[in-house]
Amino acid sequence: MDSQQYGRPPCRRCLLEEIDRNGAYRTVVEYIASLDKSVRTDEAEYRRRLAVCRSCDHLNEGVCTACGCFAEVRAAKRTQTCPDVPSRW
Ligand code: SF4
Repeated sequence: MDSQQYGRPPCRRCLLEEIDRNGAYRTVVEYIASLDKSVRTDEAEYRRRLAVCRSCDHLNEGVCTACGCFAEVRAAKRTQTCPDVPSRW
């Protein structure tokens, strides 16, 4: 659901899992689930990264405005890094 559909302001500091804009979160979850284990960040590190994103000014409705990626997708890939300078994770 898009927060603007309900007359609410965009949710800064929210990840897609808290917004589910037009089912985008389900698509992201399916994509992440399809990643090979060799590519996927382990769960503890994934959650640590997302906690950092939640406190970041670049997060806007699940999108990292520093790179344009869905934060959850970027965090789910082991070799990815936070694009901020300096990197936050
Ligand atoms: S700049 Fe880094 S910490 Fe901030 S939302 Fe993007 S990936 Fe997350």
